[in-house]
Amino acid sequence: MAQQDKTSISSRHVARAASTTLAAATLASSTAKGDSHMAEQPLIDPVGRFPKPPFKKQSQPWPGLAGKMEPRPDHGETSYKGSGRLAGRKALITGGDSGMGRAAAIAYAREGADVAINYLAAEEPDAQEVIALVKKEGRTGLAIPGDLQEEAFCKRLVEQTVQGLGGLDIIVNNAARQQARGSILDVSSQDFDATMKTNIYAPFWIIKAALPHLKPGSCIIGTTSEQAYDPSPDLYDYAQTKAATTNYVKALAKQLASKGIRVNGVAPGPIWTPLQVSGGATMEKLEKFGGMTPLGRPGQPVELASIYVQLAAADASYATGQVYGAAGGSGQP
Ligand code: NAD
Ligand code: MG
Repeated sequence: MAQQDKTSISSRHVARAASTTLAAATLASSTAKGDSHMAEQPLIDPVGRFPKPPFKKQSQPWPGLAGKMEPRPDHGETSYKGSGRLAGRKALITGGDSGMGRAAAIAYAREGADVAINYLAAEEPDAQEVIALVKKEGRTGLAIPGDLQEEAFCKRLVEQTVQGLGGLDIIVNNAARQQARGSILDVSSQDFDATMKTNIYAPFWIIKAALPHLKPGSCIIGTTSEQAYDPSPDLYDYAQTKAATTNYVKALAKQLASKGIRVNGVAPGPIWTPLQVSGGATMEKLEKFGGMTPLGRPGQPVELASIYVQLAAADASYATGQVYGAAGGSGQP
């Protein structure tokens, strides 16, 4: 009897092993078949993928244009490929004309979302390029210029987005002011006020205006920075607004969890954007920009696009109060 049991157990084991092998073989052959429909992804060396310092001396008046930078930043215009991850979503992105905001706008449209972007009037040429790319995907693209330092405009921005897109379920609070000053003595009250208004008050006003429109499943994303944890000596006012951004992301995530609204942050390291060439970095820092990171180069906005998509996608439903970084090997988190 015991022998019989042993035999039957062992034959069941053999049968299971055989069926596992068969299943594995079937899976392998279907994967092989599937592969024939998929374009093979090339291995990309992150070190050599994009330009490294030294960079050409250049400077633009604030807020600067991506279209006038040398080399031009890569926002994924020719490379980002979507797969329907945000189909049907309606997104508002501040600073959506250039830099990380533009990379997010292009990626969101290619993932199937309608997109409203806010920017300053001086940035119209950059903004129009983004709107054309969004429309090329067959999505609605709304251009809403205006100054986020004004509370009344922030409220109007939300209302115009809701009206123009027919709703709102993704907010990317990405716009920011960054002006390097060697000493605290050089930071005027006007400077300090403008940085606080743009980087801290505007997200506060926008979120308050948007909240009544946000249904469960909606999300808020704030662009924070490695500066939140490791401030540069010449970014006294800016760096503290990034600490505040990281903090509001974590606080609001707790407050809004029960409403089904997720709140997360993206923390870039040194990224090649107009912010840096229009007073955000000294010329000395700009020429060597990103060179001190382990990858030896600055990031390009497109290298963060998938993070903005991931945090907005419905399958990231357990991610709230998180800050995802992309800083080339240094920086936190
Ligand atoms: P960017 O210049 O392309 O984007 C900043 C945008 O802010 C501008 O395009 C502008 O439209 C908007 N803006 C500024 N003041 C405004 C105002 N008063 N009203 C309306 N819009 C206003 O630069 P970026 O680097 O892509 O910046 C995007 C975000 O990334 C910012 O939050 C910035 O702090 C953050 N960040 C950038 C870096 C970097 O190295 N570039 C690093 C860490 C974090
Ligand atoms: Mg811009």
